[in-house]
Amino acid sequence: MTAAVPSEASLVLSADEAEWQRIIDAIEPSVREAVALVVKDHAADSVELFYTTLRQHPDAAPFLSNELVDTRLHAALITWLTSLFSVAAPDLIALVTTQKRIGLVHARIRVPIQAVMHGARLLKGELRHLLFDRIPSKEDLSKAIDYVENMMDMASETMSREFVRDLQKEIETDEAYRLVTLGQDINLEREIQKAALLDWGHRVLFAICCAAPPPLPSLEGSAFGLWLNHKGSLLFPGPFGLEPIKIAMRKIDHVTIPALLADAPPKPVQIYELQAQIEEIRFLMDNLFRTSEARESGRDPLTCTLNRRFLPTILSREVTQAMRREVPFSVLMLDIDHFKSVNDTFGHTCGDRVLRGVAEKIVSACRASDFIFRYGGEEFLIALVEIDMDEAFRIAERIREMVSDASTDSFGVKVTVSIGVATFDGHPDYTHLIEDADKALYKAKDLGRNKSVAL
Ligand code: GH3
Ligand code: MG
Ligand code: MG
Repeated sequence: MTAAVPSEASLVLSADEAEWQRIIDAIEPSVREAVALVVKDHAADSVELFYTTLRQHPDAAPFLSNELVDTRLHAALITWLTSLFSVAAPDLIALVTTQKRIGLVHARIRVPIQAVMHGARLLKGELRHLLFDRIPSKEDLSKAIDYVENMMDMASETMSREFVRDLQKEIETDEAYRLVTLGQDINLEREIQKAALLDWGHRVLFAICCAAPPPLPSLEGSAFGLWLNHKGSLLFPGPFGLEPIKIAMRKIDHVTIPALLADAPPKPVQIYELQAQIEEIRFLMDNLFRTSEARESGRDPLTCTLNRRFLPTILSREVTQAMRREVPFSVLMLDIDHFKSVNDTFGHTCGDRVLRGVAEKIVSACRASDFIFRYGGEEFLIALVEIDMDEAFRIAERIREMVSDASTDSFGVKVTVSIGVATFDGHPDYTHLIEDADKALYKAKDLGRNKSVAL
């Protein structure tokens, strides 16, 4: 038996990768070869049996009903199995990358994790059964089964880790979206908190001037301090941002104010120092709000359309609804024609005005239930809920005409748009729908622009 000597590369591997390495290093080439042959000869049959059985599983069935997915998945699973159990030792990096990618796809299409585990168990059982028939030596059989189970379990572990990580990211995005939809007005919040900070400053100065008895109101206990420690952490999560403000706040409460009280009457320089520190907090707050405004507001500040980061959350939800409730769902991809030359000829201010104007036309052509995203610089993605292809095309044409008919007065310049139209075709991965809309958009550009094209 080959000893499991750690290779040089394993010294810098993650725990996960090192575990894969250990399994790969531990298996004798002859056993790996025997397993590879069994897998190669029976992959197609095993995969057929796998899908027939999995289609009966209530959690998995909705993801396997589409013919396109079905045929693609068959081929993909055969490739996955044969590369996992190849004759040569698999390339560790490629192996891990593949499992992570599969985990991400599962998360994106929201396939329930238990359905994946169920599938893995089916495959393991099927392979075990085949190995019994093909490997006569008991010792080799035991090693082969061990190897197959370890490889399959490691694949599941790596996929699941990525799956959970991606889902967690989405939960955070969902939460941010919830705050936005609750009507969190970030600008108003900023003004209220700046006023609260100033109000505390006035109270303290007043108390000092009137020689009020200690303790003076602390900044941490003030309306501002409470907001910062509680709601502020929700609005500005992560280690950066709030920390310098918290440090400045603690310095005022624990250093500056006690020093002021110790020297009665306080020296003007100490009062100026307090004022400078309050100013510093105001400055830090402004910075913090400004840098995270776009992120937290969830809307693009220029066009007021939805930030693209909500796209995965919303589109995967809508695709799931379309799949479960069997309602149509369409997507438009819109791109402003020759926008670069608008900027180059009339300036960026004019370009910005066009962007706002086009967004307004889109909003007026859509219903409140539709979702409008700023997809890129001069691109918008419009998600039309419960709208089929014909209706989506009519809406695209309405938007296109509204833009091309707009007078020079409203935009400052004449512009046109090209629009790609795509409809949900049963594929559970929303990125497939975006790709279709994108392809249609490219066709519209190819056909000379100022066109809507349905794929
Ligand atoms: P096409 O018809 O093929 O789409 O040509 P195009 O000129 O519209 O496309 P291209 O991708 O070459 O140029 C897009 C331009 O959009 C380039 C970029 O400077 C501009 N742009 C992106 N975001 C903004 C923005 O927020 N404001 C302004 N004014 N311009 C922007
Ligand atoms: Mg573009
Ligand atoms: Mg363009």
